[in-house]
Parts: sequence; C-alpha cells; structure tokens
Amino acid sequence: MAHDPHAVAPGRPGEFDLIADYFAPLASRPGAFGLLDDAACLPVRPGTDVVVTKDALAANVHFLETDPPDLIARKALRVNLSDLAAKGAEPFAYFLSIALPPDWAEAWIADFARGLREDQETYGVDLYGGDTLKSPGGLVVSITAIGHLPAGAMVTRLGGRSDDLLFVTGTIGDAALGLKVHAGAPEVAEWRLSPAEQAQLRDRYLLPQPRVALCEAVRSHASAAMDVSDGLLGDLGKLCRASGLGAVLKSDRVPLSAPVATAIQNGGAGLDLALDGGDDYEVLVAIPPDRRTGFEAAAAAVGISATEIGSLTKFAPGVSVIDAGGETVQMRSRSFEHF
Ligand code: ADP
Ligand code: MG
Repeated sequence: MAHDPHAVAPGRPGEFDLIADYFAPLASRPGAFGLLDDAACLPVRPGTDVVVTKDALAANVHFLETDPPDLIARKALRVNLSDLAAKGAEPFAYFLSIALPPDWAEAWIADFARGLREDQETYGVDLYGGDTLKSPGGLVVSITAIGHLPAGAMVTRLGGRSDDLLFVTGTIGDAALGLKVHAGAPEVAEWRLSPAEQAQLRDRYLLPQPRVALCEAVRSHASAAMDVSDGLLGDLGKLCRASGLGAVLKSDRVPLSAPVATAIQNGGAGLDLALDGGDDYEVLVAIPPDRRTGFEAAAAAVGISATEIGSLTKFAPGVSVIDAGGETVQMRSRSFEHF
C-alpha cells in the first residue's frame, strides 16, 4: 500500500540515525565501512575495467509521489543496472543519493530500504555509500551503479558497423502504455484491455526488468549496444549517430506483448506510442551477421528473448522505419527529453 507522503511522523530520526538505521544495514561489504567513513574503498580485480553509470529519478517526472516506496527504490536501482547490462558489465556496487521532501516519514524510508534490500539480493549488488539531504522541491533519488568486465570489453554505442543486425530484448511499449494506465489516462478505455492486462502493463512501468543476465552475451557478440530507456526510435537514433551510421527498422518485427498488440488493434494507442514511449529498459544490440547464431544461442541460454528488428546501414543517416511490404512508414521519432 502507498503511504501518504504528507503524513508527518513524530520523532523521526535525524540524518545520521537515518543513515545508521536504514542504509548502513545495506552496506555490509568491508570497503563500505558500515557507512561510517568519508568514502568507500572499492575492490578492483586485476585485468578488469570498472564501468560506472548514474541515473536520477525525480518525483512526478519518473514516478508519482504516491507510488509505493519499495518500487521507487527498486526502479531507481534497476534503471542503472539496465545501463550496465547494455555495456556488458556485471554489477557489484552502488551509491545512493536521496533528497527527501521536508515531510518525509520514517515508515516510507523503511519501505524504501526494504525494496533496496530485495533487489540487492536479486542482483548481487551492495550499497557502498551516498548522501542524504533535504529537498524542498520534492523527492529525488540518484543512484550510481558500478560494474566490472574484462579490461577493454565494454560495449559502446559507437562501435556499430554497416550491415550489423539490430536485436532488441523483451517487448517494447509496455511501460509507455503502462504509464497511461497508472496515470488514469482516458484513452485507456479505448484499448479494451482486461484488468489483468492493464496490471501487466502498469507493472512494467513501475518495475523495470533490467537484462542483467544478458551482459556476457552482449560483450561476447555485440559491436554496439545501449539500453532502451527513452523510446526505441529515439534511442536507436542515438546509437546511429554515435556509430556514424543509419538504420532500417522493420515495424512489423518490433516485439509487442499481447496487451500492447491488443491495444493497438483496438485503437486509441498507435504503434508510435510503443516505439516512442520510454521506460522499456530493454537492450538494443548491433550484432555482426556472422555473430547472429552465437548471440541468439547466448540470449536463449539465459532465458532472455531477443528479436531481430532491422539493421544498420551506411547508405542513409537516421532511422528509416519500413512496414512488412518494405514501404516507408512516417513516424514521430522523438526521444524523451527533459528540456
Ligand atoms: P561527509 O559529510 O563526509 O560527506 P556524510 O555525513 O554525508 O559524510 O555521510 C556519512 C557516510 O554515510 C558516508 O560514508 C556516506 O557515503 C554515507 N551515506 C550518507 N547518505 C547515504 C545514503 N543515502 N545511502 C548510503 N550511504 C549514505
Ligand atoms: Mg556527504
């Protein structure tokens, strides 16, 4: 159940008790020093590189203020694990900065910490430090996640080559439609989805499924990769720009879940909402044609579906979307931007 974010809890702990009571128990590795020191000391294995990423989530931008605190915490961690997975890195550590509104309640923090604990166990990561501050402008949660991989093995957005095949994991658009469900948007009625189908989409928005298990397949086979967080079309455009190439995306190949396919069929949601909407947290990879079989086998071995959706091309910049008959489809290709 969501807590009333405006409830004022009497006798709340101060900053240092808050850290000691709720965050220190999540920081049990030797280099975290129980969060009693100025800084953490991270172990680094010889022959490895350390991959670092940071993503912040703000109330009423990335989640609703009234969302369950454990889900806010887990989403904040997971969006970072998604970035590491797309680089081929195995996560092991994270840092947490939390800016709390003046009326924060201790029960809210307890649920938030419980969410972190759950995902630490799921993904094998530990808390090493962070910062706690007051934010009159509303809750902001910022996480820095740290992973490792063999030296030189990080997969970038820049390495795509012409004729590489594009694969995307999972299904696309669930979270974009799920946000509409979650926010009570009127067009949801037109989709004619069952309550269970609506819940399935909403869950994909509230709790991303980062493809951590794919990291080895990515670094063994991909020439370029990124996670899809701001919409498939816009994000593919970013990969193209970074690699200095164009792409052809086959719209009929984009993997859709049953509820998204139904919603599009019934009207009220177009394919552009699925292709343009954010929060998928799937992985987009460019695979050289001779690596295809190896990549498909490696993804299947870790139980992650990966669908071929097109290819990179040196002939035209930008992303061309074509339908099953090879005709060009006009799409709004606008990645989410804050400003
Ligand atoms: P300093 O003033 O030296 O920056 P702080 O008093 O801010 O140190 O923090 C004390 C310790 O608690 C540090 O090790 C810091 O990493 C940790 N810490 C503070 N806030 C958090 C948090 N939200 N999550 C995890 N660790 C935290
Ligand atoms: Mg500090």
